[in-house]
Amino acid sequence: MNCPVCQKEMVVEDFGGVNIDVCKDGCKGMWFDWMELAKLDEQNEGLGLALQEALSYDRANDNRGQVKCPKCSLPMHIHMYEASKEVNIDECYQCGGFFLDSGELKVIKESFMSEEERAVYMQKLLDASTDFKKAQDDLETEKARTQAIRNFTKFMCVSYYMTGK
Ligand SMILES: [Zn+2]
Ligand SMILES: [Zn+2]
Repeated sequence: MNCPVCQKEMVVEDFGGVNIDVCKDGCKGMWFDWMELAKLDEQNEGLGLALQEALSYDRANDNRGQVKCPKCSLPMHIHMYEASKEVNIDECYQCGGFFLDSGELKVIKESFMSEEERAVYMQKLLDASTDFKKAQDDLETEKARTQAIRNFTKFMCVSYYMTGK
């Protein structure tokens, strides 16, 4: 799969049983497939190493406007990450994937989000995904999607991968 920003071939990295595409040779952006995110759970181990590396990437200038989903080629939608106004998360409403620019994970790690803020943020992501929901008649798919968003917000919470909680 090619990076939506620089078009370089992305490398699949194992984040503890969850495959995340990283733009290693290019902008160091990361692609989170929602089906992969749905696999994340509290028991996951081994997130450490790959994450450590991802966290060492420098912040990239993300004043690049809208990008297209590497999977569906449709324009992606931008969400602000609540605790840090500097982080934009690109989300594809078609396939539900997320893209984080280089260094954004680090900014997120350094911003604090309370349990409450996280819940609000997750609800926002879910609400914004109405197009995606409309495309899904399957209740199981919607359930998995909700789980993926929950896991995504949890994953972005520092305490999750620093303490496993
Ligand atoms: Zn790239
Ligand atoms: Zn897509």
